Amino acid sequence: MEGKAIIFTAPSGAGKTTIVKHLLQSFDNLAFSISASTRDKRGRTEENGKDYYFLTKENFIRKIDEGDFIEWEEVYTGNYYGTLKSEVERLWAEGKHVVFDVEVKGALNLKKYFGEKAITIFVKVPSMEALKERLKGRGTESEDSLSQRLYRAEFEMTFENKFDVTLVNNNLEDSFRKAEELVQKFINA
Ligand code: ADP
Ligand code: 5GP
Repeated sequence: MEGKAIIFTAPSGAGKTTIVKHLLQSFDNLAFSISASTRDKRGRTEENGKDYYFLTKENFIRKIDEGDFIEWEEVYTGNYYGTLKSEVERLWAEGKHVVFDVEVKGALNLKKYFGEKAITIFVKVPSMEALKERLKGRGTESEDSLSQRLYRAEFEMTFENKFDVTLVNNNLEDSFRKAEELVQKFINA
């Protein structure tokens, strides 16, 4: 069976991962598309094969050449991220609907690929200040990667109207409820 594709996108720090993790706990027919990435693993909080498939740049480029990706992007200088065809097939074979957490260009490419089977949800942060606070509060970024993320966020914000739905992530509990409603409606449609 082929399930549906639920694509979350937003600038880094807006709250996608938090919302997606909540949804995965709330619905047992959803599963997360684990992307491939060449960035360093966040030591204490991330696991290979759970948060990402952490690949060397060489391996990642070999997979591009072999046509293994549905989409991929060099999101930050030298750091590649991509959705593997094999990952989506694996989860659909388990009878799950697949949830994605990708940046804006990847989200548009996934929508093009999946068509009507997909919904794109843009998670919007109330302000750049709030975004900066969230990224700093997460405690995962160096000065350099924080400024790369904030710089790219300005660009990603301009994509908002290209997606099916905007979810303003202000109060987190409200966002959880809205995300649950959106997903329930989409998978029942
Ligand atoms: P993303 O996956 O979009 O990069 P995260 O889910 O990692 O973002 O969230 C970034 C940080 O902001 C995390 O520390 C998270 O706990 C926090 N956060 C998420 N949503 C909210 C919210 N509505 N209000 C305040 N902090 C939030
Ligand atoms: P992070 O380093 O914070 O985990 O992710 C950085 C950005 O890369 C986030 O916006 C995240 O959604 C995006 N991302 C993660 N996986 C993929 C992917 O497979 N494809 C694309 N295009 N972006 C991804």
